[in-house]
Amino acid sequence: MSSTSNMHSNAITNNSQSPFVKLKSINFGDCSWTKGFWAEKVKSAGDKMLPYMGDLLCGDIGHGLNNFKIAAGEKEGEHKGFYWHDGDFYKFMEAKMYIYGLTKNESLLKELDEYIAVIGRAQEEDGYIHTHVQITDGVDRFENRKYHEMYNFGHLFISASVHFRITGQRNFLDIAVKMANLLHAYFMPDTKHYQRFGFNQTQIMGLVELYRTTSDKKYLKLAEKFINRRGTFEIKHDSTTIGYPIGDMVQERTPLRESEEAVGHAVLALYYYAGAADVYAETGEKALIDALDKLWENVTGKKMYVTGAVGQAHYGASTSLDMIEEGFIDAYMMPNMTAYNETCANLCNAMFSSRMMSIHAESRYADIIELVLYNSGLSGIGIDGEDYFYSNPLRMVNNSRNYDSHADVTESPVRQPYLECFCCPPNLVRTICKSSGWAYNLSENGVAVVLFGANNLDTTMLDGSILKLSQDTEYPWKGLVKITVDACKKSEFDIKVRIPKWAVGSTMEVNGEAVNVDVIPGTFANINRIWKAGDTIVLYMPMEVTLIEGHNRIEEVRNQVAVKRGPIVYCIETPDLPKGTSILDVYLNGNTPLEVLHKPEFLGGVTTVNVELLLRKDKNGDMYQTVTKPNFEPFKTQLVPYFAWSNRGQAEMTVFIPVIWDI
Ligand SMILES: [Zn+2]
Repeated sequence: MSSTSNMHSNAITNNSQSPFVKLKSINFGDCSWTKGFWAEKVKSAGDKMLPYMGDLLCGDIGHGLNNFKIAAGEKEGEHKGFYWHDGDFYKFMEAKMYIYGLTKNESLLKELDEYIAVIGRAQEEDGYIHTHVQITDGVDRFENRKYHEMYNFGHLFISASVHFRITGQRNFLDIAVKMANLLHAYFMPDTKHYQRFGFNQTQIMGLVELYRTTSDKKYLKLAEKFINRRGTFEIKHDSTTIGYPIGDMVQERTPLRESEEAVGHAVLALYYYAGAADVYAETGEKALIDALDKLWENVTGKKMYVTGAVGQAHYGASTSLDMIEEGFIDAYMMPNMTAYNETCANLCNAMFSSRMMSIHAESRYADIIELVLYNSGLSGIGIDGEDYFYSNPLRMVNNSRNYDSHADVTESPVRQPYLECFCCPPNLVRTICKSSGWAYNLSENGVAVVLFGANNLDTTMLDGSILKLSQDTEYPWKGLVKITVDACKKSEFDIKVRIPKWAVGSTMEVNGEAVNVDVIPGTFANINRIWKAGDTIVLYMPMEVTLIEGHNRIEEVRNQVAVKRGPIVYCIETPDLPKGTSILDVYLNGNTPLEVLHKPEFLGGVTTVNVELLLRKDKNGDMYQTVTKPNFEPFKTQLVPYFAWSNRGQAEMTVFIPVIWDI
């Protein structure tokens, strides 16, 4: 790659110099949403989500900033929040950086500088920064991995790298570098005490990003070391592991390069895999990518929900019978009502897929990014931007579970204004804020259109030439996307347009004429030609409402269907049913037409699907009952996008609906 690719060193994931990446990230800010779905979400993030979250985290409820002030000796009090609360504060800061990058609002920069100053004063002389360990009596650094030091450090490294790239300032980066140098001093030598600390592994992604920011190779080596060590020690508790499950739960039973099945805590697993993909991007080690290919196939082909969500169970066992929490269980074992699907895990699925897309330059990875963004990611936050889901089940039935009896608050029948375990909210909001950075990628002699949404792109190609595109569309509600070339070089280059796998029957035109390229769902359609300003590409994706069934092996959805239109998964929710109707008595009449209606004022502006349902009237409450021919009453109503459910009070909801066909 030529040295001009340095021009893209301000990307979210800066793979501009990564030798084993085919699709490079654009600089953050090169693309911005102009109107429509994502423009509105990003605006809401800046206007509502972040100010609300800032009040929580900088006040006494969230206590995130307070923890740093106490560690700095500027405030009295105890650490509040879980061990990983620092990391969640760094994610909140990262979200703010993206909004600063898009708006150049100086007050955001000033607020960030104030946080950074407090964090700097909380940092110890030798670089250590982890407020729980620092201000809690009787707790020592690197005593027990359950304190999530690696997680907090990883988010610090990522957030500080993003801060440097977007602002050009070194104040946060200097803090991160100091911490990373200390981490290197502790963890690079082969010391027995530290061998099993690689846990909730954001530090791998973070170290690679720090390597990309500073060009200091020791961070990459340390990142690799965390992978190399994993799975090479006997699985039994020692003083560093007590208090948290071991083995498959934390992906330490099998070395990564020998792994064929995604196991354990879904967030831990996917951060680990995403970090390993970052390492591969720099080293090109075949064994690593071979394993990651298998793991990605396993996750998305055998353990993922129709919404892109992952982590089927709150509690369970791996196939090696290690106890697991919040994670993967057997292939095709996909409970709906008890699905855990932590918002973070779903977002990590997109993060892992985004790295795999860059490495392989294949569109199918972007399909997963999109699936998560529009469904199991966005479901984590309410339309008002002020309440959150941690778990994202596919079915909610009132009184089916005693949520109060759960030891934590991660599962709830309605979104919550604050989650004590606050990992998901800032993770989701930073993802919304950075979404325009995922919209395009750069190929060797071209650009790839990855996400659809009205936007402007003003970037440089990898050869240094100027490229300006604009995208006009009402996606995801309409399937028409118009891309206009606004400025470009004089010689030929590629514009690769992602054709989503669901977009069967798509057609494409250039300047009003059919193009002679393959438009195949699940691939990039590549148009290579000499482009000039004013050229247009029109992609038309039929937005049929489709019924989705699961693999035969998924018992939990046999004889049921999910309704999907474009990238949006729908659900039926009790506010759209006669009062007193249980979601469990709802069937779909498979023979009636499914019609769509756009409602700009409803649920923040959504397209609904109108259906005829059949409401069963003869069920009793017995565990088993004799059945003859069931008694159904037809009922016409609407389905709403899954991401928008639970915005009309406590409700029952299901994605998969039993279907009755007239055959
Ligand atoms: Zn989370």
